Order: sequence, then C-alpha cells, then structure tokens
Amino acid sequence: MRRLEGKVAIVTGGAGGIGAATGRLFCEEGAKTVLVDLADSPLAEVAQRIRDEVPGAEVTTIAADVGLEASADTIVAGTLERHGRLDVLVNNAGIRAYEPLAEAKAETWQKILSVNLLSYAWLARAALPALRASGRGAIVNISSTHAMNPRAGMGQYDVAKAGILSMTRTLAFEEAAHGVRVNAVCPGLTLTPFHVRRFAAEGRTEQDLRNERAENNLQRRWADPREVAYPILWLASDEASYMTAATLMVDGGQRVL
Ligand code: NAD
Repeated sequence: MRRLEGKVAIVTGGAGGIGAATGRLFCEEGAKTVLVDLADSPLAEVAQRIRDEVPGAEVTTIAADVGLEASADTIVAGTLERHGRLDVLVNNAGIRAYEPLAEAKAETWQKILSVNLLSYAWLARAALPALRASGRGAIVNISSTHAMNPRAGMGQYDVAKAGILSMTRTLAFEEAAHGVRVNAVCPGLTLTPFHVRRFAAEGRTEQDLRNERAENNLQRRWADPREVAYPILWLASDEASYMTAATLMVDGGQRVL
C-alpha cells in the first residue's frame, strides 16, 4: 500500500520521536517528505536513517525555528521549490516546561505559545494556498491528551495543546469550502528519546520509564512513536476523506480510566 503516493508532506519536529517516526512512515507510503527541525545535524541523521531503511525514500530537510513567524514562509517556499506542490502539513514540533502557574514566567509562556501554538497557525496560513491547490490538502495538528485532562505543573503546555484543538476546529470550518481537511491527534504516553534522555539525566533507566505511569491507560504501557504515526498517516491520507475537525485520541484508552 502506498497511501501517500504522489503527495508532498511537511513534518515539523521531524528530528524528534513522533516526527521522525511519521517521516519514516510517510516515506514508506510514497510521500516526498520534508522534515523540519531546529538544527541540521539531527535532521541529517534522521533523514539518512530513513534513506537507509526505506528503499526509494524521498526525504529532505529544512532547519528552521518554527517559533519564528518568518520561518513559515521559508519552509513552505523551500518545499514548493523542491517539489512544486504541497498536500500534507503535520504540525508536530513541541517543547515542554515544568512551572506551576503560580510561578509561570512570562518568557516561558511566550516561548511555549510561540512554538506549540502559534507555529501551527503560521505554518497553516503559509501552507494554505498550496494545500487548497492540491485539491486533497490535509493538516494534522499534534496536540496531547493533556489538552483535555490537565495535570499540575505543565499549565503553559496544556493550555497551548488545548488551543491547538480549538484552532483545528475553526480552521476545519474555514477551509472545508476550499477542500482542505484539518484534524488533531492527541497522543498519550509515547516513549520517545526526549523522555528517555530526561530520565537518564535523573539517573533512571528506560525500563524505569517503561514501568512508570504505565498504569495511566488500559493497555498498561507506553506507545511506540510508530503507533502514533499510523493515525497521523491515516488522517493525512485520502482514506480519511470524510474526516475533518476531528480530535483523534491515541492514548491506549487513557480517557476511560
Ligand atoms: P520530541 O521532543 O522528541 O520532538 C519534538 C521535536 O520538535 C524535537 O526534535 C525538537 O527539536 C523540535 N522542536 C522544538 N522546538 C522547535 C522549534 N522552535 N522549531 C523547530 N523544531 C522544534 O517530542 P515528541 O515526544 O516526539 O513529541 C512530538 C509532539 O507530540 C509534540 O508536539 C508533543 O507535545 C506531542 N506529544 C508527545 C507525547 C509523548 O508522550 N511523547 C504525548 C503527547 C503529545
């Protein structure tokens, strides 16, 4: 099955856990894929791994800070220059901060809102002319289960993730007439290098991580990034042609506990 054959896709946060898995899966399914992340070298590493593991993969990279408004035009222009079209935008880049709201700093708020929320708006706006022209354009915005189930200590992140759901619905409303579908995915616990590194810094192992918080969902485990990439793929593909304004929970059933 080549579910994205002939399509061109941008994936932000492409050097990270879910972004790299999505980039790889998109290449397997025939998309010409542009991975975007902050720095060249991790991007080059991920792109090379995809080329090594996926025969015929057409993957390129753009290093840019999506938190800066001007980056959106650069990323879309770079993609159109290479491929002449754009069919799929996956807004996935994200950062975390750990400040109770009572102590939340203005700089942290601004940084989180720029990267986790405004970058999604800026990239969507820059991409829409090409996505409309595609005739089968799709945007997939990566939110989080914590958009709906907040916890103590990550307020700025959770607020930004809730904003993504609202933006997704409004954009879906506005773009339906132009043939662009807009959906959100809310991952639950997903075991990515970010979490492994964070635990390692505290002297804990990947197995400690696998054990911790695994009780938060019906499957009693963390997701592999590829298990989040598949629902993203589906929403990006024509198989999801009647899906728009949706919030897809990819959470191992966390929400019913
Ligand atoms: P990750 O940290 O592995 O990847 C995020 C990537 O975004 C990184 O490669 C990082 O360099 C990049 N990035 C950060 N700021 C950027 C910027 N300004 N410009 C360009 N790139 C930037 O994280 P992940 O776990 O793969 O998460 C991907 C998305 O999924 C994020 O939006 C995250 O909030 C969301 N999410 C993750 C989980 C989880 O458990 N892993 C759960 C829910 C939601």
